[in-house]
Amino acid sequence: MATFITEECINCGACEPECPNTAIYAGGVEWDLSGEKHPPISNDFYYIVPDKCTECVGHHEQEQCAAVCPVDCCIPDPNHAEAEEALFARAVKLNPELAGLELSAATSRFRK
Ligand code: SF4
Ligand code: SF4
Repeated sequence: MATFITEECINCGACEPECPNTAIYAGGVEWDLSGEKHPPISNDFYYIVPDKCTECVGHHEQEQCAAVCPVDCCIPDPNHAEAEEALFARAVKLNPELAGLELSAATSRFRK
């Protein structure tokens, strides 16, 4: 399930443009994947779509939403831990140009 946003969110919107997978949406906004629309996961706060979040694996050294959030409410979901391999497979599915990328400390928080 990767990263999720707690109810501490103050709806500042800082995280949304930072996500390399467009996995973050404002409360009440439908999310989309491959052109298909889905109902919002939260109506009150910004939310992260688990099927689109890769914990930034494949793109950055750490979760970009967590890096910019002023109230530190983007956290790993302790109940849904995922391995780097699964997260990278998702990243490639969402961003086919990443196929063949050698993960490093710059592109995976697991390599620190
Ligand atoms: S951890 Fe990365 S991929 Fe997941 S929602 Fe945050 S910015 Fe997007
Ligand atoms: S940066 Fe943090 S407080 Fe701001 S919208 Fe995103 S999760 Fe909410």
